[in-house]
Amino acid sequence: MCYAIPGQLIEIRENGGGVVDYFGEKRNILLDLSDAAVGDYVYAQGGILVRKISTEEALEILSLWKDKFFELKKMDERLSHFSESDLPANTLQILQKVNLKKPLSRQDMLALLKLEDPRELKVLYELANHIRHREHDNASCIHGIIEFSNHCRENCHYCGIRSDRVVKRYRMSVDEIIEVAQHAVDEYGFKALVLQSGEDPWYDEKKLVKIVSTLRAMGILVFLSIGMRDKELYQKLYQAGARAALLRFETSNEDIFRQLRPGASLHERLTLIKQLKSMGYIIATGFIAGLPDETPEDIVNNILLTQSLGPDMYSFGPLIPAIDTPLAAQSKLSIDAMLKIIALTRFVDPDSNILVTTALETLDASAKKIALLAGANSMMINVTPMEYRVFYQIYDNRADRNQTVKVGIQSALDLLYSLGRAPTDIGVVEATLTS
Ligand code: SF4
Repeated sequence: MCYAIPGQLIEIRENGGGVVDYFGEKRNILLDLSDAAVGDYVYAQGGILVRKISTEEALEILSLWKDKFFELKKMDERLSHFSESDLPANTLQILQKVNLKKPLSRQDMLALLKLEDPRELKVLYELANHIRHREHDNASCIHGIIEFSNHCRENCHYCGIRSDRVVKRYRMSVDEIIEVAQHAVDEYGFKALVLQSGEDPWYDEKKLVKIVSTLRAMGILVFLSIGMRDKELYQKLYQAGARAALLRFETSNEDIFRQLRPGASLHERLTLIKQLKSMGYIIATGFIAGLPDETPEDIVNNILLTQSLGPDMYSFGPLIPAIDTPLAAQSKLSIDAMLKIIALTRFVDPDSNILVTTALETLDASAKKIALLAGANSMMINVTPMEYRVFYQIYDNRADRNQTVKVGIQSALDLLYSLGRAPTDIGVVEATLTS
């Protein structure tokens, strides 16, 4: 099964970049294969060329996609239309600024976060979707995620696998992780896999290098989500072939951070995110929304701090209180509160990639669809074996806990197609590979 569309490499630049053509639509990429040549058909993920495929295979896939690709584009164009209708003057003025690509002030951002009127919210989300379409056309990306260990040395108050909580712990062996990844690539056609765990030093440099280099050799984008590990380890993993890292800072408010992550330092976390960026990693970062004592000003600061880190992908989700954790009694955010954050992020950083997180889906069963129509453009599918998935409960009743990989893929594709989205790569702005 293959659901990512290959493109043709039409240009190679001296800075390590290149251009891939998808049915006439051009996307900048980073070349990460020394033997790729102009004219080759390739797969790119997260803006990185991950694999060449034969011309014969590519043409066969493209012939299946050709009509559908243009059909989907038309549908997305139709669905991303927005009209200002009869909005109150203040809201209209702010949204016009957004549409004219003018920067928003903090006051503007706060005013949008405080909107409650359904008519105004409707236009807010439509405009965010319109901008997503303007910047990315109908391209969406899907990554697989393997949650390979729920051991964690940290004790974050909001987390269901914190070290103090009694849960059944598991670790997948190196061979098992490789086997699951190989199956996800061969059987399901994944081109990017996120390796996620608690902060678990049992996976030392030797084990992680073996996993990363083996997965990279499968021709996929290897995406790490392993928490605060040493800078030197991340450097070694980059050399082994990892190219993306997900590390959220969780909150820009130092007092809240200190309270919820005992013994951890926001400064050290931000420093590591910046170091990963300068090593050459594609960065996904963001925050948790709905933490105790959080104010709308904190949300604005969270969005602006994420932006200042220059992420390739924004990853933020609502707090879903987990039982037997210090935040078990915290109330959940409304879906509109989260959609406003997504829309606002799209306004602040128009060409960003915004992930629909599982936490959001857990908050509301239809969240994936409405988030994709409010500015989001990226999704993950859980490929962790079912026997482990039930124990990676960072919060309760996760939306994907009982969903097989096949069902997860099919529902993701059905959703993307119903919205006119095509699973092409999302491309990157100009950048240079570091080695
Ligand atoms: S949030 Fe991450 S670091 Fe904190 S306890 Fe959970 S898995 Fe560990």
